[in-house]
This record gives sequence, structure tokens and C-alpha cells, in this order.
Amino acid sequence: MSGGLECYEVSSVDRAEVLRYLGYSGQPMTQELEARIDGEVARCLSVCQPRGVWRTFEVAGREVREDGAPVVRLGGTALELVGSSIQKHLEGAVAVGVMAVTVGMGVERELRRLSLTDPVAQVVFDAAATTAVERAADACEASLVADARERGLYTNFRFSPGYGDLPMETQPTLLAALDAQRRLGITLAPKSLLMTPTKSVTAVVGMFGEPQASSHASCAGCLCRDFCRMRGAGTPCWKR
Ligand code: SF4
Repeated sequence: MSGGLECYEVSSVDRAEVLRYLGYSGQPMTQELEARIDGEVARCLSVCQPRGVWRTFEVAGREVREDGAPVVRLGGTALELVGSSIQKHLEGAVAVGVMAVTVGMGVERELRRLSLTDPVAQVVFDAAATTAVERAADACEASLVADARERGLYTNFRFSPGYGDLPMETQPTLLAALDAQRRLGITLAPKSLLMTPTKSVTAVVGMFGEPQASSHASCAGCLCRDFCRMRGAGTPCWKR
């Protein structure tokens, strides 16, 4: 088992992605609105503290539960990945990278403050924070891809609780497997299992002995690119 606790430098976000989270689809925008969006993005980047924690676990077995649900069991952790979606995502995987990232309580406090004082700014700030936490997830995924490469393995893409039929009930054991409450300060609401800080992401990444159809095949367009050590070192994850 390997792992890390990391801080990430997220100094910019893709404006088009912020606009996508805002539901923008090409409507004309005033200069005032553009300036407001840029201002909230800048404010978000100034308060966000992107951090992540990850660990890699060997696949210990695959079973079908009494209720018929397929389960992927991991070695050295109580974390079980249940459902046909994750079973398919991890088909043939020999190890699984588990990750959690957050942009921190500073962003959370600002979201709460804006919800009381400036709801329009809050909507824009929220979209910027969602974009920032996805950048942090890209950075953490880059660490998992690098770990896989060191093991001679290939990765597919990250898959989060709530996607497909991977239940939200995965969250408590996933966060416990990473000791994420103590290390990142992520807590869960008892019933909804939603995370605080709300701008946090958890996910798993499959690791395989052979490249998969969804494995990275080129650095062009790779979301991990800005955070990737392998590309700069001339040892990209897809080249052996
Ligand atoms: S930037 Fe290149 S080497 Fe790095 S993770 Fe992406 S595809 Fe792999």
C-alpha cells in the first residue's frame, strides 16, 4: 500500500468550465457581468486551499453478495466497492487508487457568507469553487497515475460514489480508508452523507496490468497535465 497527503497549486481555472457550471450557453454577456465573474473566480482562488490524500490498495477479491450485488474487496481496508457500475469500471484491475480532495473551509465560509449577503455572487463563487475542486482532483489523480506507473500499471479514469450504482453509503468507509477526517477535515452529514467542506471530491481509479480503452494514451488534452511529474520527466504514463 502506498499513499500521500498533498497540497496543490491551483492558480487558475478554466473560465469556460465555470460558465458551464453556471448553465451558460452562449447568451450575450455584459462587460459588468464578465467582470463580476472574473472577480468571483479571483476571490475563490485567493481563499481556496486545495489539498488531497490518496492511497493505493490491492484488489483482494470479487464476490456477489446475498442480495445479488457484485462487490470488489480491497486488501488492508474495510472499504468495499459495491454495484455493477464499479464492477465494470474495475474489471481486470489488480489495484485501486482511492482519493479525496478538498478546497477547504475558507471556501465553505465564503459560500455561507455570500448566501446571506449576495446570492448572485454566491452562485458564481460556487461555480468557481466547483471548478477549483475538480482541478484539485486532477492533481490528486496525477499522483495516482504516477504511483501506478511506478508499479508498471495503467490507470483508467476516476469514478466517484454516486456515479452509476456505486452508493453514497461508500463514503464513510472510503473516507476512513484515507483517514480523511483527520488529515483533510472532511466530515459527513449523518443522513445525506454529503461532505463538509461541500467542495470536496472522493473517487477511485482502477489500476491494470495492461492499458485499457480508457487509459491515458497521450498527454494532449489530459486533465492531469498541469500537475503531472511524468510528462516533465519524459516518462509519460502511457509510454513503456
Ligand atoms: S499528462 Fe501525460 S503522462 Fe501525465 S497523466 Fe496525463 S497522459 Fe499521463
